[in-house]
Amino acid sequence: KLVDQKDMKDVGADWKKGEPVPYAGLCKTFEAIESTTKRLEIQEYLTSFFKHTIELSPGNLLETLYLCLNRVCPEYENVELGIGESLLIKAIAEVTGRTTQKVKNELAKVGDLGKVARDSKNSQKSISSMFGNRDKLLTVPKVFNSMKKIASLTGHSSQDLKIKEIQNLLISCRDEEPKFLTRSLEGKLRIGLAEQTVLICLAQAFVMTDKEYEKLAKAKKTEELNNAIKTIKSVYSELPSYDKIVPALLKGGIKNLREHCKLTPGIPLKPMLAHPTKSITDVLDSVEGHKFTCEFKYDGERGQIHRLEDGTTKIFSRNLEDNTVKYPDIIERISKAAKTNTKSYVLDCEVVAWDLEKHILLPFQVLSTRKRKDVKEAEIKVSVCLFAFDLLYLNGESLLKKSLEERRKLMNDSFQEIEDEFSFVQNINATNIEEIQSYLDESIKANCEGLMVKILDGLESTYEPSKRSRNWLKLKKDYLSGVGDSLDLVVVGAFYGRGKRTNVYGAFLLACYDPEHEEYQTICKIGTGFSDSDLETHFNYLKEKETSEPKSYFNYDKGTKPDVWFEPCQVWEVKAADLSISPIYKAAIGQISEASKGVSLRFPRFIRIREDKKPEDATTSEQVAELFQNQYNNKE
Ligand code: ATP
Repeated sequence: KLVDQKDMKDVGADWKKGEPVPYAGLCKTFEAIESTTKRLEIQEYLTSFFKHTIELSPGNLLETLYLCLNRVCPEYENVELGIGESLLIKAIAEVTGRTTQKVKNELAKVGDLGKVARDSKNSQKSISSMFGNRDKLLTVPKVFNSMKKIASLTGHSSQDLKIKEIQNLLISCRDEEPKFLTRSLEGKLRIGLAEQTVLICLAQAFVMTDKEYEKLAKAKKTEELNNAIKTIKSVYSELPSYDKIVPALLKGGIKNLREHCKLTPGIPLKPMLAHPTKSITDVLDSVEGHKFTCEFKYDGERGQIHRLEDGTTKIFSRNLEDNTVKYPDIIERISKAAKTNTKSYVLDCEVVAWDLEKHILLPFQVLSTRKRKDVKEAEIKVSVCLFAFDLLYLNGESLLKKSLEERRKLMNDSFQEIEDEFSFVQNINATNIEEIQSYLDESIKANCEGLMVKILDGLESTYEPSKRSRNWLKLKKDYLSGVGDSLDLVVVGAFYGRGKRTNVYGAFLLACYDPEHEEYQTICKIGTGFSDSDLETHFNYLKEKETSEPKSYFNYDKGTKPDVWFEPCQVWEVKAADLSISPIYKAAIGQISEASKGVSLRFPRFIRIREDKKPEDATTSEQVAELFQNQYNNKE
């Protein structure tokens, strides 16, 4: 059953044209989405809600969309909503007249603070909650604006102000609203709504609200919908900003979207990612029939450099964080590297620590000691050299759809190398195993991680933003006989140490991320690879992140319960001997042949903290399943 206008009335939100979108209606839609796992049903619910919004309150579409995604601004602005659990417990307790202890007890029982908030709120019989007051009905813009305010509050008295704002919202909440509001504030909606689905629904809603659509034959309707979905996904990967896309959609519909929304210097796009491989023969199998190139895989930090028409230069991290203040030296030198005709551009590079005297690459560990904020050029201790490997935009034109061969030529023509400062990545066009092997050895000798093998020509060699593409393969020397790649995992819990480790955590529980179910799935316990100072650093950082209960979005087995739980806050790079099926770990559950079992890591070893990844950028359960499967295939 679709959420239609009748349903809106059911929840007491009589939504009339021109009125703000009722939050109750959105929550009703969330509730419907949460109640099913069927993708098509989920799409029907959300598309229907977007259609209503476009027809009745188009001015609120952007806020509605952001609430579905649990964001308050474009992702690249890196504003986190995640309000700490203790703050929320305090707000819920005060609004519902309970003690914080009672709320905590409920949370221990129910495991979901959203449900606790809902139940506490609904059992409270106040006059206004019984009869409701139309003026007090929560609207989508009201909730969105409050969330935006809460996320932006910083500084000394911000805690009190945040609590006040949260209380104001909670007071006006009814029915299912407290549940979703609390979850949104916690930073996870947990209804199984992935961003790709939101995009699909947005495209469908725009097609369906077009008057001509109803007149089309069935096959034509399907074609229109599919084209629209393709358009919106490709536009979003180039310009990941709903602030730009939604107004353009409202103005010109989906057909004119591409014209108005293109890759724009200043707005970072999600980088293209590479697929792991385990042998040179694997690589050759994948690239068969294509022209390909082998590039050194430098061990540094990704830098996406944007030069705007007005002369401003910005550098973004892998995570789309603005790193401009971290690298004033790069900003300074890139103007010299760009030739006179090179006006605006987006250049994909690796920033690597560099020994100025010996003219050699230094390992990542050296780069990680570089200061991040308030960097003054004269005080820089770690010098870096920039290695450019791709050009995505040049002088007003997006190059994403051009082949790598063409992009590389344009890059070489538009920039010049500067000794010790700016260079193109080293590469050869190898053709056979021996050549690749010896180039791999050469890359390792030069302090690189291995090679990146990329298809050079044809449709397979376009730049695919945000995709882990099979047209880019990573070949790392030390994984050739192991798992194929290291994993980036989230610390979700810890075990107290014994013996020498009594004052710190001695071991940790790690998890991968499943974006589809919005949950962290446990994958292993780790106690190896830590120096004493690592353990101390982890303890000092993580003790602040302890929570009284595991998050409702942790998938774990009682048998692996740690002594303390954490908010998901940090990503660690971990190596392992191999992956095995596990009855107690939950990684990739349902995605491998034994559907009720998960995957775990054998002999995991800590390598380093991944500062450039957020918990949601951790290795996904799908990747774990794939690594597991590859290992299995190789053993066959
Ligand atoms: P993920 O694939 O999840 O990003 P990761 O961040 O650990 O994993 P890898 O997959 O190991 O990175 O390698 C891809 C990264 O390698 C790129 O994001 C880039 O920072 C770096 N890199 C170094 N040299 C190159 C190159 N020649 N071409 C592309 N990327 C390169």
